[in-house]
Amino acid sequence: MSNNDFNYFVDQFDDMRVLKYRLPGFESLTLQQKKFIYFLSQAALSGRDILWDQNFKFNIQIRKTLEAIIENFKGDKDSIEYKTFLVYARRVFFANGIHHHYSTDKLIPGFSGNYFESMIRSIDQKLLPLANSQDVNSLVSVLKTVIFDEKLFARKVELKADIDIIAGSAVNVYEGVNQKEVEDFYSGKIDSNDPRPISVGLNSKVIKMEGKLFEDVYRSGGLYGPAIDQIIYWLEKAIDIAGSGKQKEGIRLLISFYKTGDLNVWDQFNILWAQDSDGDVDYINGFIETYSDPLGMKATWEAIVDYIDAEATKRTKIITDNAQWFEDNSPVQQKYRKEKVKGVAAKVINIAMLGGDCYPAAPLGINLPNANWIRKEVGSKSVTLGNITNAYDITSQGNGFLEEFAADINEAERIRKFGALSDALHTDLHECVGHASGKLAEGTDPNALKNYASALEEARADLFALYYIIDKKVMELGLLPDEDAAKASYDTYLRNGLLTQLVRIKPGKDIEEAHMRNRSAICHWVYENGKSENVVEFFSQEGKSYVKINDYLKLRNLFGELLKEIQRIKSEGDFQAGKNLIENYGVKVNSQLHSEILERYKKLNLAPYTGFVNPTLVPVFDNNGEMTDLKVEYADDYLGQMLYYGKNYSFL
Ligand code: ZN
Repeated sequence: MSNNDFNYFVDQFDDMRVLKYRLPGFESLTLQQKKFIYFLSQAALSGRDILWDQNFKFNIQIRKTLEAIIENFKGDKDSIEYKTFLVYARRVFFANGIHHHYSTDKLIPGFSGNYFESMIRSIDQKLLPLANSQDVNSLVSVLKTVIFDEKLFARKVELKADIDIIAGSAVNVYEGVNQKEVEDFYSGKIDSNDPRPISVGLNSKVIKMEGKLFEDVYRSGGLYGPAIDQIIYWLEKAIDIAGSGKQKEGIRLLISFYKTGDLNVWDQFNILWAQDSDGDVDYINGFIETYSDPLGMKATWEAIVDYIDAEATKRTKIITDNAQWFEDNSPVQQKYRKEKVKGVAAKVINIAMLGGDCYPAAPLGINLPNANWIRKEVGSKSVTLGNITNAYDITSQGNGFLEEFAADINEAERIRKFGALSDALHTDLHECVGHASGKLAEGTDPNALKNYASALEEARADLFALYYIIDKKVMELGLLPDEDAAKASYDTYLRNGLLTQLVRIKPGKDIEEAHMRNRSAICHWVYENGKSENVVEFFSQEGKSYVKINDYLKLRNLFGELLKEIQRIKSEGDFQAGKNLIENYGVKVNSQLHSEILERYKKLNLAPYTGFVNPTLVPVFDNNGEMTDLKVEYADDYLGQMLYYGKNYSFL
């Protein structure tokens, strides 16, 4: 099947759309690889409830209530209220909870609390998710308050300076504690002289009981034990058929981590995982990214299963083969460059299953492990999600967006011609060399940048990509055909950071999400610092604002200057400078420009956020119960998949 015959579209509601992704070349994988994918994909789906509970403590009960209503409500399903309810339910499923997956603002239902109550009361009590000793009245009263009171639990992650960001965040990784208490609790546990520090606090919830703080650890027999046991069950099946000894050993260590919660074992696992780059089938499974913790310590659960895209991987191999050259020639101060860049294993992969925090909204690139010392001593693995990126590219052609926001016909033409290629290369450079570059000064606390760490880290990786994408070396290596392709990358980046990413922000709100703060900070910084030479300009035509780059090489130098400064901030743990940079350039929104952009975007009838349904992987068995094949079925019922997962993969 060619790309053009494949119907990617599944659903669209509010600011979200749902697509399918293709699994190219899946049929030609070996039976052993398919079995491996199957077991790992079951493990990837089994931890779903963990994320729901981490995101907010009422999420699982709310989701089960929504499921019960959708499956059992016998009232008028053609009414506007019911349809509005279904939009809300689809948004909650998309966000793995009642807070927007990206802005982290609470999702506000378009129907009334009384309607919600009437639906719940119309259903047989036995079908409702009543907690121990809870009756329907209490369920109704709790959920009505939690869902409909706009001021209560208003944000999942609050990063505003000068407030208690733990008390202000609804995320369920702290209970009954304030920011100061948590910082004191952990300050004694972090040894900034340890060259190989464990990821302190990564896999636990901090709770205060009888005046004392303690960690409730995510592990078998501990917090989230029943879901973790399911993950272990499938991982154990995967060991036997893993591709190599290293891969088997890696899975054994991961199981041991899930059984003990020991963060030393987590590091050992990550070391093996980072080194194991031979297998064509790979996975991510664990407590990994810390964006949802306002203090950036506690990781949400996520999983993917993937197999290599051999053709596209040739591109990333060229980059990683030259990783040392990129490091040696970067504008960063020499003392903060790596003398020896450790093997960044970069691949383009195709996703076979998304789980946890990667589902349904998937990342485009991933670079792991996150521990700085492992990246420095052992290296990291960097992947671009080929089939996910393709789904984006193909569905965005001809949707009117470029025509509306590009500064002129030349720019639009350049992007039509080179956009997909230069976007992919930007992601590759960001992941393969950007995140992997640079080093900390001796004795710098890796957590020094606190709530600004994620935005600054993303800025560092983006700037590395931006600085190099227009370099002669990139043309010499054959990664881009000519400078016009690099210009397409700059055009897209500046337009997005200064104008179009605002479509993701609700009127009157600040920019909160780390990647968006990063883009805004970079673009506003280069705009301000290049102003005297008119490097980048805003102009207006028929009441519409546009962004135009007047000098691409000067812009490149500004990217280099900022990269140098942000690497210094990270290397020295200069919290104040990092805070100033993000707060001054990355957070605030020009309200007049904002409403203009929203207005123009609205007319295009597009959704700024994309998620994916997973394919259904169906094992084929022979008479002896032996698996003989694994078939891919492309599901196209979004709500149906959510209900199916709720029935079959809910363990908490
Ligand atoms: Zn990144």
